[in-house]
Amino acid sequence: MTPILRWALIGASDIAATRMIPAMRALGHQVTGVASGSAVRAAGFAAAHGIPYGTVDVAALVARDDVDAVYVSSTNERHRAHAEAAMAAGKQVLCEKPLATSFDDARAVVEAADRAGVLLAVNHHLPGADTHRRIRELVRSGAIGRPLAVRVSHAVSLPRRLHGWRLGDRPGAGVILDITCHDASVVNPLLDRPAVDAVALPARQGPWQAGSEDAVVAAIRYRDDVLVQTHDAFTVPFAPTGLEVHGDEGSILAADVMTQDPIGEITLRDRTGIHPVDVGARRDLYEIVLAAFAEGCLDKGRPTATGHDGLAAFAVADAVLRSTSTGRREAVRGLPEELDA
Ligand code: NDP
Repeated sequence: MTPILRWALIGASDIAATRMIPAMRALGHQVTGVASGSAVRAAGFAAAHGIPYGTVDVAALVARDDVDAVYVSSTNERHRAHAEAAMAAGKQVLCEKPLATSFDDARAVVEAADRAGVLLAVNHHLPGADTHRRIRELVRSGAIGRPLAVRVSHAVSLPRRLHGWRLGDRPGAGVILDITCHDASVVNPLLDRPAVDAVALPARQGPWQAGSEDAVVAAIRYRDDVLVQTHDAFTVPFAPTGLEVHGDEGSILAADVMTQDPIGEITLRDRTGIHPVDVGARRDLYEIVLAAFAEGCLDKGRPTATGHDGLAAFAVADAVLRSTSTGRREAVRGLPEELDA
């Protein structure tokens, strides 16, 4: 039985409205309040979604007795301040990705959670998906032998209603912090070793005069010379997403698995032939995140992406982002050696 949580939302956002509130309610959780930077938006969002309390006062919201946990889905540059405000009130925090807009800020959020003794998880919806769990099981069972390479296709079309801050030039905009960090949230636990360095080429392809990259191709080297290539974009309307994992004894091809919905098919190819892989149950990805978070609040389970996982995913995207500025291969920050130094 999943524990029932009472949630405060920081951020009157699209993702809260379209995915998270429905998922919270599907699990029987309650949404007790919402904070926005605008009083009008707070009141409007609360009314539209049947939330009893809307405010611009984040500190007052997170201090309430009817709040067990806080979901932060404000714009990326506000995540650190909002997560830290909730943690300072002793509340468990589920923060949207990316954790922050710089590696140092992202690490500070994780350290603040450790200091406060609260649970911090990051809303990476993909690693908990039933498809990705199955792919990890296959790799861990040795089905493809030694992993050598991963290809991630995560080029999609940005819906019109989201043509706002993502296409601007402020910190937190662009496709890399939006999508590449999701890729890393999948590849990091799949390869179960740290990313070492990355090199990337950005592009501006859309018709919208983007202030930041809206497409990027990156090559990322993980420890033991495992190579990962990613293609992320806001500009590609009809391509399927996908993940391929290639080893010295087999390959896993997974189509349509880098999405927000519980879809996608997995195929294993090895010396015995081509085999469809049974995924089993296909649960809502956001309900999986919330259920695991709730278990984590009671120390009964582990979030699908902890704060440390979110930091590791951010670090990969951060190296990709830096490479697009410098034109050089950039080291991934946060390797165990760096943290020990
Ligand atoms: P939105 O643009 O819908 O919301 C982000 C913030 O923008 C809101 O908190 C709100 O600020 C402000 N805002 C929204 N609409 C308006 C408006 N009409 N006028 C003025 N301000 C507005 O962003 P998303 O929901 O797409 O993303 C929010 C966060 O969630 C991001 O960090 C993103 O990376 C993440 N995300 C995660 C996904 C996942 O699958 N894990 C998927 C999509 C997004 P205020 O609250 O102050 O009113």
